Amino acid sequence: MIQKHPTNQRLSIRLLKWVLLSALIAGGMLSMGQIIIDALRAMDELDNQAVQILDVVKDPATQAVYSIDPELAQQVVEGLFKQREIRYAGIIHPDNSTLAEKNRALRDESFRWLTDPIFSKEKKYIIELVKGKSEPVTYGNLIITIDTAYKAELFLDRSSVVFISGILRAGILGTILFFVYHLLLTKPLTGIIQSLLKVNPSEPGLQTIPTPKNHKDDELGIWVSTANDLLKEISDNQQKRRAAEARVLKLSQYDPLTALPNRLMFRNHLQNTLDDAKRLEQKIAVLCCGIDDFKSINSQFSYNIGDQLLQSFAERLSGTNGSLQSSLHTASRLGGDQFALIQYNIKNAYNAAKLAEDLLLRLSKPFEFEGSKINLYTTIGITIFPDDGITADELLQKSEQTMTLAKTVSRNQFQFYVASVDSEMRERKSLEKDLSHALENNEFHIVFQPQIDYKTNTIIGAEVLIRWIHPIRGFVPPDIFIPISENNGTIVAIGDWVLNEACKQSAIWRLQGYNIKLAINLSAVQLNDASIEKTILDTLNKHKIPPQYLEVEITETGVMENLSSAVKILTNIQQWGVSTAIDDFGTGYSSLSYLKKLPVEKVKIDKQFVHDLLANEDDTSIVNAIIQLSKSLGLSVIAEGVETLEQEIYLRSHGCDMGQGYFYSKPVKAEEFLNYLLEKPSSLS
Ligand code: C2E
Ligand code: CA
Ligand code: CA
Repeated sequence: MIQKHPTNQRLSIRLLKWVLLSALIAGGMLSMGQIIIDALRAMDELDNQAVQILDVVKDPATQAVYSIDPELAQQVVEGLFKQREIRYAGIIHPDNSTLAEKNRALRDESFRWLTDPIFSKEKKYIIELVKGKSEPVTYGNLIITIDTAYKAELFLDRSSVVFISGILRAGILGTILFFVYHLLLTKPLTGIIQSLLKVNPSEPGLQTIPTPKNHKDDELGIWVSTANDLLKEISDNQQKRRAAEARVLKLSQYDPLTALPNRLMFRNHLQNTLDDAKRLEQKIAVLCCGIDDFKSINSQFSYNIGDQLLQSFAERLSGTNGSLQSSLHTASRLGGDQFALIQYNIKNAYNAAKLAEDLLLRLSKPFEFEGSKINLYTTIGITIFPDDGITADELLQKSEQTMTLAKTVSRNQFQFYVASVDSEMRERKSLEKDLSHALENNEFHIVFQPQIDYKTNTIIGAEVLIRWIHPIRGFVPPDIFIPISENNGTIVAIGDWVLNEACKQSAIWRLQGYNIKLAINLSAVQLNDASIEKTILDTLNKHKIPPQYLEVEITETGVMENLSSAVKILTNIQQWGVSTAIDDFGTGYSSLSYLKKLPVEKVKIDKQFVHDLLANEDDTSIVNAIIQLSKSLGLSVIAEGVETLEQEIYLRSHGCDMGQGYFYSKPVKAEEFLNYLLEKPSSLS
C-alpha cells in the first residue's frame, strides 16, 4: 500500500526561499560593488578639493612666508577656515617654526565608526611655498588637514540609496521569478501528485494521470505520459500474474477435464461441511458414484469420446437438483470414472435414497456423440453422517467401498453402507412407488373412531382415519405411508380424497337422521397448500354439510412449520364455523405463548401420555398440566388412546371433557360405526 504523503508543497516554499535569498545576495553584492567604487571616487574628490583649496591660497601664503608677515599669514589661515571641512591650517617656516596656524575640533558624528575606517578621521595635505623661477627657493610649507566627515556624510546618503534600491530590485525580481517557477513547475507538479495519490495500487492502470495544461510537449508532459505507460504496464503484469495464480490454484484444486473439484479439495470441503453439520446437528450424505464398465467404453470408442463422455456425465451429475429443492449438493471427480457428491442437511436417509434414484435416472439417459447414442450406468454407494462415520476420510472410504461392493452384485443401483438402512430405504422406495398408484387403484378407505363426551356419556363425533390395503403387503399403517406421502407431496391429493369421503359419508348419515361431527387430520403440507381453504369450502358445499359438522386436527409441529400462514388459514375456516383442534399435544413445542395465539378451540392429549397414565408419574403430571393449561385458556380437552376404565376415571376426575380410544371402539368402517351408534346412546340423532 502506498503511503499517502501530505502535499504540503515543501518544494514551493524552498523554491521561494532560495530564489529570494540568491536574488538578495546578488542584489546586495552588486550594491556593495557600487558603494566601493563610490567610496574610491569620494576619496579622489577629497584630494581634488584639497588641491583646489591649496591652489587658491598658495600665492598669498608664499608672499606671507617670504616677507615674514604674520598678519598676512594669519589672514590666509582665517580665509582657509571659511571652508568648514578644514580642521587645521598652518604656515610653517622651513625650520619648523610656525608663522600662523588655526585648529578646530573634528565634527562629532554618529556614523564616524563606519566611515572613519574607510576615509580615516582626517586627511593631511602639505605644499611647499616656493619663490623664484630660475632658482626656486623654498620659504616654508602650507599644511592643511581636512575633516572627512562632510564627504563621508554625502557618501553615506548615496550608499544607502544604492543599497536599498538594490535590495528592492532583487526582492521584486526574486518574487517574479518565484511565481514563474510556481506556475510552470510546482503547480502542475502538485496536480500530478494529487492524481498519483488517487491511483489504486491494486489496479494502477485503471486511472491515467492527466497531462497538465500547456505541458504536453515539455519535460512534465513526457514525465506524465511515461508514468502512465508504466502504470499500465504494471497493471497488465499484475493481471497476468493473478490469472497465472488462479490457473495454478485451479489446477491444484479442480479436475482439468470436468472442472469439478478434485479429490483433495472435495475432501477438505467435506471435512468443513462435517464440522458445521456437527455444530448444527445436521445430517449429511456422501454419495460415491462409479460408472459401470467405463473401461469397455474407452476401448470400444476412443479416449477422446471417453473424455467427452466424462465431461457430459459431470455436467449431469453436478446439475442435479434432487427431490429437496432447498438442499444443495456439491459434486467432485475423485479420479478416473469415480465421482462423489455431498448432500447437505438431509432430514433422513430417505432423502439420500431419493437423490440417488434421481441421479440414476438422470445419468442412465443416453449420451449422444457424433450421431451414436451411448448408455452409461452408474452405481452409487451412500454413507450418512454421523451414523456411518464422523470424518471425511471415513465417510468417503466407506461410500467408495460400498459402491465397489454393490457393483459386484448388480449394476445401475444405489446401496447404503449399513444393510438395515439399505433395506429400510428400499422398502420405503417401493412403498412410495406403490403409493403413487394407490389412489387410482382404490386401495384406500376410511374408518371412524368415536369420541365420547364425559359429561353426557354420549357420542359427540368421530375421528376419520385413512386405511391403505396394499394388494400384496395388505394393511400398511398410516404412520408408515403418511410421512412418505408428505415427503413427495401426494398427501395433498390423498387428504382431499379423505375430506371428500368423510363428507360423502356424513351426508349419507345425515339422510339417515344422524348428524355426526367428523374430525379429519390435516397435514402440515396441506396447510402450506394455497388451495386448502377453497377445497374445504367446496367439499362442504358439494355434500351440503353445515361447517359445524366438520373439525380439522392439526399437529403442533405442523403449525409451527409455518405459523403465520397456519394461523391465517385456521382463522378463516373457523369463521365459517368449522371446528379446529390441536393434535398430539405435548409431543412438540407445547408452548403456552403460541397456544394462546392459535385459533383452536380443542386440545387433543397425545395417546403416549394417556397410555402410561397412572403408571408413569411424569406422564400423569403432563396430562394434568395440559388439562389445566387448556382450561385456563378456555379450550376443551379430549384424551386420545383411552384403553382402560382406570384411565377414563382419572381423566374424568381431573376435568378432561372428552375421550377417544380402544376402550370405546377401535376405528371402524361406516356400517360398523352406525351399529355402535345404535348400541350406545348418542346425542347426535
Ligand atoms: P392420530 O391423528 O394421532 O390418530 C390417532 C391414532 O391413534 C390412530 O392411528 C388410531 O388408530 C390410534 N388409536 C386410537 N385409539 C387408540 C388406543 O386406544 N390405543 C392405541 N394404541 N391407539 C389408538 P392410525 O389410524 O394408525 O393413524 C396414525 C396416524 O396417521 C394418525 O395419528 C395421523 O397422524 C395419521 N393419519 C391417519 N389418517 C390420516 C389422514 O386421513 N390424513 C392425515 N393427514 N393423517 C392421517
Ligand atoms: Ca388425529
Ligand atoms: Ca394423535
